[in-house]
Amino acid sequence: MSKAPGRRPEPADGPQTRPGHVIRARRIDVRRNQGKRGLKNAPGRREIASGDYDRDWLLGPVRSMFLGRAADPVARDAAASGGVLTAALCALFAQDKVDAVLAVGFAPDDPVTPRYLVLASPQAVLAQAGSVYSFIPASELRRAVLEAAKAGYARLAVVCQPCLVPVARRWQARGEFGVRAVLSFFCGWNMSHEATHYLLRKAKVLPEDVRRLGYRRGPYPGGFGVTARDGREVCFGKESYELVNMQFVRPGCAACTFYMGEGADLVCGDAWLKGHRNLTAVLARTRKGLKLLEAARARGGVELFELEERTLLHMHLPNLRYKKYGLSPLMGAVTHFFNRRLPKPLAPFRLLSLLSRLRRSVKVGVRVGELKRVEGPLV
Ligand SMILES: Cc1cc2nc3c(=O)[nH]c(=O)nc-3n(C[C@H](O)[C@H](O)[C@H](O)COP(=O)(O)OP(=O)(O)OC[C@H]3O[C@@H](n4cnc5c(N)ncnc54)[C@H](O)[C@@H]3O)c2cc1C
Ligand code: SF4
Repeated sequence: MSKAPGRRPEPADGPQTRPGHVIRARRIDVRRNQGKRGLKNAPGRREIASGDYDRDWLLGPVRSMFLGRAADPVARDAAASGGVLTAALCALFAQDKVDAVLAVGFAPDDPVTPRYLVLASPQAVLAQAGSVYSFIPASELRRAVLEAAKAGYARLAVVCQPCLVPVARRWQARGEFGVRAVLSFFCGWNMSHEATHYLLRKAKVLPEDVRRLGYRRGPYPGGFGVTARDGREVCFGKESYELVNMQFVRPGCAACTFYMGEGADLVCGDAWLKGHRNLTAVLARTRKGLKLLEAARARGGVELFELEERTLLHMHLPNLRYKKYGLSPLMGAVTHFFNRRLPKPLAPFRLLSLLSRLRRSVKVGVRVGELKRVEGPLV
């Protein structure tokens, strides 16, 4: 069934980031979002099960999809979900396809402010495994490509938010900065960096006292975790993000319809499965992405399992509906209330985290049987 195209998007607001990192929304190509299509057009579980949905709109071009995980359990535990992005980046080095990877993490001199790092070895990539839930403007990626060029790295792989994929692709098409591969991740909600400071306040750790922080620390799926200089450890489960997302979602992110790294070579997201942990949902969108996955598997870096399209869609239906079709009036009002109306200190953090944990235990996760390993050549 083909759905009617939605309205053209409203001009998106400029991202609210720290000074010096302002970009115009046009630069991140929000115009190409084409607008959400209205929730009444969204497929439900029944339409997904019967194949009655607009595949191009929901998924975009995909060659193959898999479940995957890093073969090394230590790498898996350090990663956000299954460690496939990290394993794929390491395979690029092993094949001598790139000189450096640009990915977001923390520099040793500032464990609180995420930034693009120029990672020139598999060890450096491994050290930055994990997700950073904070909006990164295009100007920060540009700063990093210039830094890489200055350091003489001629062949780059870029890991970026879906909205930055067009930026990296544009450079690649123009032959600028030596971009060789673009990897991305699913991106449901993203927040201003203020959210990190809010969570630090809830953890009662001052930014200057942070030794290490992570957004997916602890047993899968992990959560916000901080280690203070005095050795104190505070961790909140992943459910804490649901409240924080609503409070700190940037208007540009709320309007955005990119979800599964549309246009990248390889895209990874969480595989929300009941009974199976630490797995990544992997989409090879291009031949290059597929070959990269093949290379990662050939060197023993990843294990791959079959993934049916309908399982992927079931796992991600709430986010897909919101990103591609919009929020329900109730959720829109709740988000508006937390985002614009309620003073941040008044939000009942622990109570809402608890409710969110209960919701996750009931609503998140698709039941699948035994995983089927993919053995032959990838197609
Ligand atoms: C802001 C954000 C929102 C997300 N939203 C969703 C979602 O709604 N649903 C879902 O299923 N998955 C979402 N993800 C993806 C998920 O958290 C994992 O990134 C994905 O499953 C890949 O896991 P992995 O274990 O294979 O990656 P890892 O092996 O942990 O590798 C992650 C790589 O990405 C780099 N990286 C981390 N954060 C960023 C960043 N912000 N920008 C650029 N590079 C980065 C790291 O340096 C590392 O190289 C989101 C990720 C981010 C960063
Ligand atoms: S939600 Fe959209 S605009 Fe925001 S970081 Fe993710 S892809 Fe970019």
